[in-house]
Amino acid sequence: MTFTKKQIERYSRQIILKKIGTLGQKKLAKSSVLIVGAGGLGSPASIYLTAMGIGKIGIIDNDIIETSNLSRQIIFSTGDIKKKKSKIAIGKLKKLNPNIKLVSFLQRLNRKNINKIAKNFDVIVDGSDNFLTRFLINDYCIKFKKILVSGAIDKFDGQVYTFNFLKKNSPCLRCFMPNIPINIDVNCETEGVIGTLAGIVGSIQANEVVKEILSIGDSLCGYILIIDALKLTFRKVKLNKLKKCYCHEKN
Ligand SMILES: [Zn+2]
Repeated sequence: MTFTKKQIERYSRQIILKKIGTLGQKKLAKSSVLIVGAGGLGSPASIYLTAMGIGKIGIIDNDIIETSNLSRQIIFSTGDIKKKKSKIAIGKLKKLNPNIKLVSFLQRLNRKNINKIAKNFDVIVDGSDNFLTRFLINDYCIKFKKILVSGAIDKFDGQVYTFNFLKKNSPCLRCFMPNIPINIDVNCETEGVIGTLAGIVGSIQANEVVKEILSIGDSLCGYILIIDALKLTFRKVKLNKLKKCYCHEKN
């Protein structure tokens, strides 16, 4: 793979970094990321990953853009209301970086379609808004040894998890939360959320994806990042792989 002069110019501020270089930039160009949910987290994550030169990006979302999305789902504009999220997002990302292969999936991720959709991607970014989807993605990534970068936001609180199932001792979401919580309908719609927190968490997710692909820095795998946007604290809390967990047998 060789970059054109324009591509070298586009990525020059990354290529100049010793930890990335041309080799690292090529690694990004050869990698593929599936973003589940073109919402608050999927918006910044997809914008950064596209801008930074990930080779192939898929977005799965079946929702329609609503007025109440616009305070945090920054990839959309007022004129996009009532249109399909994943289609509009892909259109905007194409304009941002025409070098990237972009695919939209106008579906809801479920047990039946997950393998067909996710199998051709190395990394999964979870920006979904419900626990059923989160657990479905978690279990799939364990089984097929994918890297999973998950984010969650609620009111003024955020979390980021990186699970790298290519590594033997990666914990999983079930190690942290063995069962789907009972208050299953708790989400942005019922609880509220501050728009900027989506930007903070989604951007950290994109940063984690790039770190895992390039194997640079300290992996978040084995920790949970807990963000309090009001106190402005970022705490890394150790998360161990549980002996009794599902991931222990499969991973
Ligand atoms: Zn586990």
